[in-house]
Amino acid sequence: MGDTGDIFSACWVIVDTFDSRKDCAIYVRDGRVRGIAPLQDLTSRFPEARVHVGENVAILPGFVNAHHHCFGVNLVNQGISDDLLEPWILATAGAAAISSKTSTEYAALRLLKNGVTAVVDACTPGATAALAEVKIREKIDVYNRLGMSCAIAPGERWQNRLVHPAGQDTDFLASLPQDLREKLEHQHLSRVRMDPATYLGLVVRLAEENATTENADVWFGPVAPHWTGHELLRDIGFAVQHKGLRMQTHAAESLLQHLSAGRPEFQSPVAELAQAGLLNKKLSLAHMVWADDNDLQQVAEMGAHIVCNPSSNLRLRSGIARAPQMMRLGINLALGMDGTSLAGDEDMFAEMRLARNLYWSADPAERDLCAQDVFDMATMGGARQMGMDHNIGSLTEGKRADFMIVSLENLQGPWLSDRADPIELLVSSAKSSDILSVYTSGSLAVYHGKICNRDEQSVFRDIADNMQHAADQRLRAEDYAIVRSALLRWYDDWLTEHA
Ligand SMILES: [Zn+2]
Repeated sequence: MGDTGDIFSACWVIVDTFDSRKDCAIYVRDGRVRGIAPLQDLTSRFPEARVHVGENVAILPGFVNAHHHCFGVNLVNQGISDDLLEPWILATAGAAAISSKTSTEYAALRLLKNGVTAVVDACTPGATAALAEVKIREKIDVYNRLGMSCAIAPGERWQNRLVHPAGQDTDFLASLPQDLREKLEHQHLSRVRMDPATYLGLVVRLAEENATTENADVWFGPVAPHWTGHELLRDIGFAVQHKGLRMQTHAAESLLQHLSAGRPEFQSPVAELAQAGLLNKKLSLAHMVWADDNDLQQVAEMGAHIVCNPSSNLRLRSGIARAPQMMRLGINLALGMDGTSLAGDEDMFAEMRLARNLYWSADPAERDLCAQDVFDMATMGGARQMGMDHNIGSLTEGKRADFMIVSLENLQGPWLSDRADPIELLVSSAKSSDILSVYTSGSLAVYHGKICNRDEQSVFRDIADNMQHAADQRLRAEDYAIVRSALLRWYDDWLTEHA
């Protein structure tokens, strides 16, 4: 991009959810949006600029995927089927352990091709501070080189690695045959994890180092309160309050998590976070499917954010979040794909469509989420949660020129009414295959489905090579069936006993 800048015109410029401009254009220079006006106005104001006339297209701000995991090759492709969250987690430990850099690159390319220009990457840090530091730096580098903004949220399951209530892992293991006991022990219990004190120091240091970076951040990402423990949560709370850092955690995701809550050793995740001083504007909670009225009220009062992950919640049998109620309470909502989009294709249009159709309430006091609501979740909601809303999430003048050009050809069909609302049309009907190009910071990043500044084929080769040489740690189908039924039986017994 030279000094003279570029003008892009379109049938619609979607500046943000509430500002769609017909027959309009944007002027982009030095990576930022510098003007929004009809094409003729911009060409007369900036006669030197290169002009890209968009025939039958819309220009949209880049999407923010507010909660993601880089699983590498889709788990279904690795022989790990969708299931109830708890047994599924036990199965995912058998996924191929490939290089974090390769799986991040692969995830980043796929997201970018789907118009996602900012992401919150929830990851495990690795066994030592040195390894974690390399991993986090590599991730930031991968996203930033593609022009994407990112927040990296490393975290572990420090306790309850097999079953939710604290201190019950051994009890559950005892219910398994010897060979499976050893396998699960090896995969889940004996894996070396970074100790909490080292983790705290590392996240604080890397977060402070990135504090002045415009499009990269490092957050705390303890996997969930019940996997973290009171003491470490309290220490994180202390660091968050004194250093002004951000945190993302899974919370109230599954029914079994919910049923194991409300006990002295494990109260509701929201209560647990509040007690640790973590329930505040810097916190984002992923899922919250089983959050009750009291939880949501507290989240609203303290200004914490919620990321809804509709695809993941369906695929892992978690349920449907009460998003209409969250919205009525004024909670900032974002949208995440959790590395588990419905078709495993990271199509953010499909995710918005799903959110829009799932999130309605039979209670007339709560209005359904409309197309505008879910579009806002996928753009500004995520940007607000990342603390980057001054810079990304919309095409307001002065912000980063992260945008996509979407063809209206297929959406229009043989006839389209003048009354049709462009956001409604995009949320209802668009697919990522309608994306013609994606720009990050004003530079062409994706053109007709191909990444422009990275050799995609070499990433695919790396993935295939990594997969070929990764040790096969998966449970055999018959072993998984045994573990699964033992797990469900164990929960059933435990819950009956503690009813
Ligand atoms: Zn997740």
